[in-house]
Amino acid sequence: MMGTRGCRYVSKVTMIFLFAVIGLILGSFAGCLAYRTAAAKSIFSPSRSFCPGCGATLRWYDNIPLLSYCLLRGKCRYCRQDIGLRYLLVELGLMAASVVLFLRSESIVVWAAGMVAAFVLAVVVVTEIERGRCWFAVTVVFACLTGSIVWMTV
Ligand SMILES: [Zn+2]
Repeated sequence: MMGTRGCRYVSKVTMIFLFAVIGLILGSFAGCLAYRTAAAKSIFSPSRSFCPGCGATLRWYDNIPLLSYCLLRGKCRYCRQDIGLRYLLVELGLMAASVVLFLRSESIVVWAAGMVAAFVLAVVVVTEIERGRCWFAVTVVFACLTGSIVWMTV
């Protein structure tokens, strides 16, 4: 609408970056919720994230979605236990969902509805994987993918 093409391009890239970051944060939160649900731990306490291996409370810089995983090479800073690739995958998955929904949605309401669905799906799937019920998780993902493809083509 306004400004030059270059300006619009920059603002779109900025928006994509912003929505990617929102997706990463939601993904990080979904992974945390799934871990605590599967381990039958309280969602609210402790409020800070901790290492499941050694119980060390994570510093803020160890808890940055995507970035910390890469910097720590997927291991706890204190006990070197593997953090688990599924947490990274959930963060990347919700990041992708957020960006794709942003590019395809006509309004923020559609984006929000899609993100709620993606968030719930991520929590359910990772919880089931944590509990060792991979096939159930695969079934849920498959059912949701089929549902959304049908929804998009109808
Ligand atoms: Zn640890």
